Amino acid sequence: MTLPAGLFDSHTHTPLCQHASGTPTELAQAALEAGLAGIVFTDHMPMPRWYDAPWRMSEAQLPLYVESVLAAREAFAGRLEVRLGLEADYHPGTERFVERILSSYPFDYVIGSVHYLGAWGFDNPEFVHEYEERDLTALWRSYYALTEAAARSGLFDAIGHLDLPKKFGHRNPQPDLAHATLEAVAAEGLALDYNTAGWRKAVAEPYPAQDVVLEAVRLGIPFVLGSDAHAPGEVGHRFAEAAQTLHDAGAQIVTFRGREVQRG
Ligand SMILES: [Zn+2]
Ligand SMILES: [Zn+2]
Repeated sequence: MTLPAGLFDSHTHTPLCQHASGTPTELAQAALEAGLAGIVFTDHMPMPRWYDAPWRMSEAQLPLYVESVLAAREAFAGRLEVRLGLEADYHPGTERFVERILSSYPFDYVIGSVHYLGAWGFDNPEFVHEYEERDLTALWRSYYALTEAAARSGLFDAIGHLDLPKKFGHRNPQPDLAHATLEAVAAEGLALDYNTAGWRKAVAEPYPAQDVVLEAVRLGIPFVLGSDAHAPGEVGHRFAEAAQTLHDAGAQIVTFRGREVQRG
């Protein structure tokens, strides 16, 4: 399988989030060697101090993050396009904080992700036993209610890894629960993160699943390709296969620059 020309990896992390390795320069080098045209840094954004602090940069580190990405942009000019983004968390009540952070620098691309149901970080392997305590349908219903609100918030360009609760294998038992979110994504003109990290997890498939991709395509929703790399070796992970899958589904692959969609 050959890698199509012009692809970007639009979902990557840096060591500032405290659970990733590789400087932006090292990650950009990996993108270049993988045959990509660009890389977008989307590290976990600062959040209020009470929220998930061990898994992200602090607000005080944000200038350092921006500087390190812009330095990589300089270093790779003419060889690889380097863009500045963030993976934001959607968590009701934090919208104003998030809005303030997002307006503080000229970001190219902002992913909106849901990682928490209430106080439960449901994608954290340490808390995976909690799935056994929950009704799976209710869990997925709550999750999709949050992603729908994220899509309606006006804060984000794309929704991250849309069916993340399947990470450890707890698949959505009622696929129609995704509909309202997909309709919101389409109505708000957002894209979906096509995230190949799922191939590296127990579920062993990208986010979102193929049935969700097909429905999104019917609704005219474009996709943004991302590896969710937390190390240089993960940049562009299985992109040839991902691009082929999206192509076969009739999906459009886009990127974002200056918060504007770039087609083709
Ligand atoms: Zn992460
Ligand atoms: Zn995420």
